[in-house]
Amino acid sequence: MLTENDVRAGVKGQTHPDIIAITDHAVDVHGRKGRLYEVSNGPYGIPYRCLLPRGVRNLFIASRAASFSHIAAASCRLCRTMMTLGQAAGNAAALCVREGAPPRKVDVARLRAVLVEQGVAVTVS
Ligand SMILES: Cc1cc2nc3c(=O)[nH]c(=O)nc-3n(C[C@H](O)[C@H](O)[C@H](O)COP(=O)(O)OP(=O)(O)OC[C@H]3O[C@@H](n4cnc5c(N)ncnc54)[C@H](O)[C@@H]3O)c2cc1C
Repeated sequence: MLTENDVRAGVKGQTHPDIIAITDHAVDVHGRKGRLYEVSNGPYGIPYRCLLPRGVRNLFIASRAASFSHIAAASCRLCRTMMTLGQAAGNAAALCVREGAPPRKVDVARLRAVLVEQGVAVTVS
């Protein structure tokens, strides 16, 4: 699950090997107890694993319903990030079909390479 720790760490402080999307919007919790603060350590990454629900083998969740804590979701829920997750899920599904492998066995290095080829940022310079 993506958490506030990821948001606060920034991509340079995260150690996940399977980051497939980068984002950087402020944490913007709505409601009476809402709060708003900028991400302090630059952009952060979303791991591929956030798209894979427990207990279901052949399903990707590429939306607000992906595995995010509510604080992390308050930052990463933006349309642009959801579009990036959709791009990653679509490519991962294509790799599954091509290789006859389930989502959990996708070669994430290969998935990241495909995304880079398509102009999707999966890292920061
Ligand atoms: C008022 C408001 C303002 C916002 N402003 C911004 C903004 O300025 N910038 C920004 O980046 N984000 C903004 N957001 C957030 C952003 O819109 C969402 O976080 C983002 O769209 C979530 O993407 P999603 O794919 O998870 O869901 P959605 O974009 O909600 O997509 C879900 C889709 O599934 C469809 N659907 C639902 N049930 C079914 C079903 N049973 N069968 C078939 N289809 C179904 C829905 O019709 C919808 O099209 C705003 C959100 C709100 C509510």
